[in-house]
Amino acid sequence: MHPHAETDVHLLALSALSDNYIWLLHDDAGHALVVDPGQSEPVERALIERRLQLCAILVTHHHHDHIDGVADLRERHGATVYAPADPRIGECDIRVSDGDTVALAVPAARFQVMAVPGHTLSHIAYAGEGYLFCGDTLFSLGCGRLFEGTPAQMLASLDRLASLPATTLVCCAHEYTAANGRFAAGVDAGNAALSARLIEVARLREHGQPTVPVSLAGERATNPFLRIDQPALVAWARAQGITMDDRIARFAALRAAKDQFRG
Ligand SMILES: [Zn+2]
Repeated sequence: MHPHAETDVHLLALSALSDNYIWLLHDDAGHALVVDPGQSEPVERALIERRLQLCAILVTHHHHDHIDGVADLRERHGATVYAPADPRIGECDIRVSDGDTVALAVPAARFQVMAVPGHTLSHIAYAGEGYLFCGDTLFSLGCGRLFEGTPAQMLASLDRLASLPATTLVCCAHEYTAANGRFAAGVDAGNAALSARLIEVARLREHGQPTVPVSLAGERATNPFLRIDQPALVAWARAQGITMDDRIARFAALRAAKDQFRG
């Protein structure tokens, strides 16, 4: 078998806290990495059930629901922790920043580190092996709240993520898709791809299944925060009094409307 064949790694979404996902990637030999373990218990269960060895932990940002399991897992398994340079993330072995490559021997995987400020200022994403681990920056049918960054920063971050290959599987850190979809339907009502996605999302949630990962191509077709230049979103912004050529103002208005939305 070719050591870098795509069939060599397997992706799991571990449910954690109320609506978080901890992503676990493992190879056929049982070497695993996890992304943003906000709790250690779901990871420990998966490691035992599947007889996996935890080798690495990737952290996207400092929020507690993404890092609270790191210390336990690092101590018990000796996993190497990769995280952005932010003192609010105390548990870390290797600080990484924009343009760095995380190259793991086991599981054999390489990820490009991308700075994606907006939700927080030090937020990073990891892209590689066909996956995008984007934390709370990009969600299916939505994006993260702007706790620290500006609309211009977040829009630039989303633009960068949207430019990754269309087949990239978006692995976001929360199951927010149904609620995001209710907002998206109101601002991009004529979008047939969005309507189809909403039906799929409803069916998946009825069966208690994750709505992610989802392809970047699918998100580009349905996520209003990636469709800020599309006629429907331009028309929506105009109706809010936003001038046509200012895409940052359009994005800011859309994000503010989502903050106010109670669907
Ligand atoms: Zn967060």
